[in-house]
Amino acid sequence: MSEVRHDWTKEEILEIYNKPLMELLYEAASIHRLHHNPNEVQVSTLLSIKTGGCSEDCGYCPQAARYHTDIEGNDLMSVNQVKAQALRAKASGSSRVCMGASWRNVKDGEEFDEVLEMVRTINKLDMEVCCTLGMVTENQAKRLAEAGLYAYNHNLDSSEEYYKEVISTRGFQDRLDTIDNVRKTNVTVCSGGIIGMGESIEDRAGMLVALSTLNPQPESTPINALVAVEGTPLEDQKPVEIWDMVRMVATTRIVLPETQVRLSAGRTQMSQEGQAFCFFAGANSIFAGDKLLTTPNPDVNEDMKLFDKLGLIPMKPFTKKVQPKTVEAQDSAYQAQGENPKWTRPEHKIERNEAAKQKAKEIREELKETEQA
Ligand code: SF4
Repeated sequence: MSEVRHDWTKEEILEIYNKPLMELLYEAASIHRLHHNPNEVQVSTLLSIKTGGCSEDCGYCPQAARYHTDIEGNDLMSVNQVKAQALRAKASGSSRVCMGASWRNVKDGEEFDEVLEMVRTINKLDMEVCCTLGMVTENQAKRLAEAGLYAYNHNLDSSEEYYKEVISTRGFQDRLDTIDNVRKTNVTVCSGGIIGMGESIEDRAGMLVALSTLNPQPESTPINALVAVEGTPLEDQKPVEIWDMVRMVATTRIVLPETQVRLSAGRTQMSQEGQAFCFFAGANSIFAGDKLLTTPNPDVNEDMKLFDKLGLIPMKPFTKKVQPKTVEAQDSAYQAQGENPKWTRPEHKIERNEAAKQKAKEIREELKETEQA
């Protein structure tokens, strides 16, 4: 019941997902207790260090330049800005900072060097540092590891089959290859996905097959509920029902017993009772702060009040793995190689992505005409 298995089949996972809820919860909570302290929850802060203007067409994402959404873009933050935010996060109880940049992939150069300096700076604050920067090569992953990176986030998003219905500008295999590159270092892997994008239960199970058959399994798995943002191709999706979220968290806990299961986007749509069910089902990590990259998130004080009510305590940093050492830039064994890897661009047509792009074009033309008038 408690061993880590890498041979889960979709049928087995579906059987777990569809169990009577009370049985599912009991099993997930029992497995949770064998591998984790059920009263500890990791609190992480997600920082958007570079927002918007992204070249990709991810159907759920308001940062894609091709769609028209209300988000305000910004260039890469400075190291000092990031340090100030990290200190604020630490003071309010976060043990991990996750820095996200709206890039397709990491490119060697000044901006990446800045990110490496951010990693060094936050690691020296004795906080776990995670980055989500798009696809990375092996050398780039090694440079991040040397700087003191604790985790790299690269979500599989959905099953391989449904991935093609949401994104046309990058391939599922590239996601797996990036995770593989991170695995060639000591950096831990954070990889999960999103539910509520119109996928079937089979797709949810398919995603968990892909994650659980990775060897080793990811150390952290975010389960996001889609936040449907106006202007994106998925703007009309209905909010995820809490019971779907609870089932997904519980199933993830059972097939990824040692992983930190992270309640991520969509927590504002969840009641306190709903979140408590998720913690019981095995979620042991949340993102704190009023924004999750660009979408709303519960206020950190509200989270701490909920923790008090439930008797939960924030997990200390480096509970699961020792703190990595930071190597200074001048002592680095790995240098920029000016790589230009050919990550895949399948470029098949996704109707709703095309429609959102066309709508954005029309809105921009209208705005231009109004400005000129
Ligand atoms: S999810 Fe990431 S890669 Fe996709 S559009 Fe948004 S920022 Fe770009």
